Amino acid sequence: SSHDAPLIIIGTGLAGYNLAREWRKYDQSTPLLMLTQDSGRSYSKPMLSTAFSKNKTAESLTMADAGKMAEQLKATIHTFVSVDAIDTEQRVIQFDGQQLNYRDLVIAAGSETINLPIENSAAEKTFAVNDLEQFSAFQLAAESAQRILIIGGGLIGCEYTNDLLSTGAKISLVELQPTLLSNLCHQSVGDALVSRFTEEGVDLHLGSAVTAIRANNNGVIATLNDGSELTADLVLSAVGVRARTELARGAGLKCQRGIIVDRELRSSAANIYALGDCAEVDGQLLYYVMPLMQCVRALAKTLSGTPTAVSYPAMPVTIKTSCFPIVSNPPSSSAHWEVEQTDGGIKALAYDKTKSLVGFSLGGSAIADKAALAKQLPKVMA
Ligand code: FAD
Repeated sequence: SSHDAPLIIIGTGLAGYNLAREWRKYDQSTPLLMLTQDSGRSYSKPMLSTAFSKNKTAESLTMADAGKMAEQLKATIHTFVSVDAIDTEQRVIQFDGQQLNYRDLVIAAGSETINLPIENSAAEKTFAVNDLEQFSAFQLAAESAQRILIIGGGLIGCEYTNDLLSTGAKISLVELQPTLLSNLCHQSVGDALVSRFTEEGVDLHLGSAVTAIRANNNGVIATLNDGSELTADLVLSAVGVRARTELARGAGLKCQRGIIVDRELRSSAANIYALGDCAEVDGQLLYYVMPLMQCVRALAKTLSGTPTAVSYPAMPVTIKTSCFPIVSNPPSSSAHWEVEQTDGGIKALAYDKTKSLVGFSLGGSAIADKAALAKQLPKVMA
């Protein structure tokens, strides 16, 4: 019966493993089953974009393998498998031709990288990094690269630009917007990073799009929308991620940009929950660790019998560009900005009509003000 059926968690990323750990604090007896498409190694994904400068490899980033995690969590963990269907009536998941009953099901399936819809005859020289396996393949290829082309000047593209500078390779960065980090930061801070990267020798192409990539000898030639061409040994594509919703959609769960869940992380189907990069929580889709950890704490309680709603404090995002560190909390709606050049940094503050602080972008030494400013911000979800 579903009474002795396990809690099943799909995904062993930060959302899946942290939830399992937190839930085990309240419930040591209910069986736990976890499934992942990858190796199930436990690692901190944000460390993937500082690994080159910190001399880390996939192996040294691994905190525990799947076997050790299974032991710690008193769980059964199936690695390298893909759940391909959920029967919400029978409360059954299907994978590898097997069927398993669940008491409760948590979808922590993460996000997938967006592929540029362009012609690319050099796919084997084009990388994206969104998990440990992809990182490992990219690191191996990047070791011998002299010229690396990064597409996308958002958080991940900028962090990799900073990180790969440590390899001594020539870095080209192509970004569609006229500045960097335009979704996350005030323009003044994006522009300050542009200056800093330029000083570091980064070959920046702002306001440009890559329209085609083709193989060339042992590398690639990328064509830009102005007709110019860039050569490189390999390409790192960092043009964004989207929530993985395919499995949930297939099972008839309500989805928009992500799997729709309420403040108790409940989906539209009974006994199915979602959190992490795949979940749209009360309308908010946030691809960061802080909101995911808030959800972990609430959901662990809900799953052990105490229904608990999640709340989000203000959660500034740190951009790990060590040559010019940035912390930003973009305002949720239009705001009036005041920008101040400080000694060795820049501080942009966003105010609403009542002159309350509603956001900020800090660069360089100004990041020291983060904690004091964050305290003044309104909660994202009270
Ligand atoms: P994931 O880690 O993607 O885990 C998804 C899991 O689901 C995997 O185990 C996968 O195999 C499994 N899965 C998916 N579908 C199926 C299926 N059908 N069957 C079985 N298993 C399945 N955030 C910050 O807050 N700060 C940072 O500095 C930061 N830096 C980052 C740097 C990089 C390079 C990247 C890529 C991201 C960064 N992020 C950062 C984002 C942050 O890492 C993510 O928000 C977070 O790790 C998401 O965790 P998750 O568990 O939801 O998803």
